[in-house]
Amino acid sequence: MCSIIGYSGNEIAAPIIVKGLKRMEYRGYDSVGVATESQNQIELKKGTGKVTEVNSKFQLDTLPGKIGIGHTRWATHGKVTDLNAHPHPSNSGKIAIVHNGIIENFEELKKKLEDDGYSFKSETDSEIIANLLQKNYESTKNVKDTIMKTVSEIKGHYAFVAMFENGQLAAARFHEPLIIGVGQENIFLSSDVLGFIEYTDDAIYMKSGNFIILKNREFQILDFNGKEIKHEITKVSKEFGDAYKGDYAHFTLKEIYEQPELISKAGDRTINGLEEAVEYIKNAKNIYVTGSGTSYNSALIAKQILSKYVKIKSEPIIASELQFAPETIEENSVLIAISQSGESADVLEAVRIAKKSNCKIISIVNLLTSSLTRKGDVVLGMNCGPEIGVAATKSFTAQLIVLYKIVQKLNGNITINFEEFSESISKILENPVKIQEIAKELKEVSDVYILGRGINYPIAIESALKLKELTYIHAEGIPGGELKHGPLALMDTDVFVIVINPNDSTYTDTLTSAREIKARGAKIIGVSDIESDIYDYWIKIPKINEILYPISEIIPIQLLTYYSALEKDTDPDYPRNLAKSVTVK
Ligand code: GLU
Repeated sequence: MCSIIGYSGNEIAAPIIVKGLKRMEYRGYDSVGVATESQNQIELKKGTGKVTEVNSKFQLDTLPGKIGIGHTRWATHGKVTDLNAHPHPSNSGKIAIVHNGIIENFEELKKKLEDDGYSFKSETDSEIIANLLQKNYESTKNVKDTIMKTVSEIKGHYAFVAMFENGQLAAARFHEPLIIGVGQENIFLSSDVLGFIEYTDDAIYMKSGNFIILKNREFQILDFNGKEIKHEITKVSKEFGDAYKGDYAHFTLKEIYEQPELISKAGDRTINGLEEAVEYIKNAKNIYVTGSGTSYNSALIAKQILSKYVKIKSEPIIASELQFAPETIEENSVLIAISQSGESADVLEAVRIAKKSNCKIISIVNLLTSSLTRKGDVVLGMNCGPEIGVAATKSFTAQLIVLYKIVQKLNGNITINFEEFSESISKILENPVKIQEIAKELKEVSDVYILGRGINYPIAIESALKLKELTYIHAEGIPGGELKHGPLALMDTDVFVIVINPNDSTYTDTLTSAREIKARGAKIIGVSDIESDIYDYWIKIPKINEILYPISEIIPIQLLTYYSALEKDTDPDYPRNLAKSVTVK
């Protein structure tokens, strides 16, 4: 969700900043801007749109100087306009800032600054930081005291980078990500390692409540009381460097195709290990599983496999809902918290609530440097590599594999042949022609319903989510048995229904539902290992161990939604209005 970047080094800053912003595009944004310092002058260019568009319109990368800041904005305060885009200069033009997050008391601060004669050009909360810094810099005359005074006055959650006209940079972090990239010749201040990974894999993960002041390559990290903090350099996994599309047209397609490979790796990198997770689960009073969006859909599957295969009851919880019913959580239980980025604000809040009730946390997370990793008593890594496409694909599969590995550990009698499974998934992906044909049929459709029973119902919900995100088609997952209790009224000749119908205990009932729908004229896409003439289109899945059906069902549906997005001319990697890592509540 929005990216900030600061650069100070031996090379011309602007092109490096633009490249960094481009790499962080997956985080979601609506406007772009860069400011640089050269010969004690700050210059700035910004506008709405994608990095490439704004750059070709305003030539952001031609700004002079070896020090600079950049931003991709995800508007929270004020419309998406050129003026509201960051960076924001202070009134004197001697300071410019980029900000990620929200300043909660900005109205009050703005009023005070206006009383002092400051004026504001944008509708954002962020612009107050620039003028507050100017005011405090004029009184303190040094950057360290300026930042300390400023952070003591602002409330909210933020990461910001400030550039002073003497070429000094400073950045503060409070509950929004900020990472320092330490290169031989240059220093980066960035929301994400992808902002600098091409230049260095040495990173310092700044703690919330700390700030950095930087001149040339010399820097100091301090806490908000001004006490110097010792820092540790972490080697960032080079795998982040793989975040290229390669030969694929989109990241989403590449990530769908990476799934057979990740099956053996998911859950292998852990902190405290699977054994410990299993011990916690066995001894817990209750088990809760939480996540948002796709990760919540994994939680729904977790409930089913835990009860069916190990007779353990668990409760799936939508992360953002827990704050309204914290009493749901009983003392001494276990919360399994699932988040790809490990920075999802709602999931972190759920963890905070569970910890208050003395629960153990099992984090299932992809980014092992994230906040959720630090909060886990046990951490099970998805290990699926960077997921850039905003809509989750491979991380869903990786989450499920981790959950299956937990179940397998809990019940020694279950054998899952992951290797064989990986091969059968490859077969699904080998020939997408039929799926591409079906995607063409969905081009003009405005409503799609997806039917599934039992463990296939969460897949129906996840499929609907993928359709909404990638194609903007209205889609709804329906438990098959509920059809007669309402949704059947919606079935007519304009509607498409995807019927998830593997050869398990739900098969016959779901085929009956398909027949009922067909009788109302709707078109049926059957996702099954058994062919039927009830289906207008058949998406074949392999005959496999029943526990693995959910993954084999979602993969062709991911492909179908991807190709439908192409038909509808939407951008599958960056759906409108959505951000990859939702770090605000
Ligand atoms: N609240 C700021 C704005 O609306 C920053 C949003 C962001 O994180 O991009 O401009």
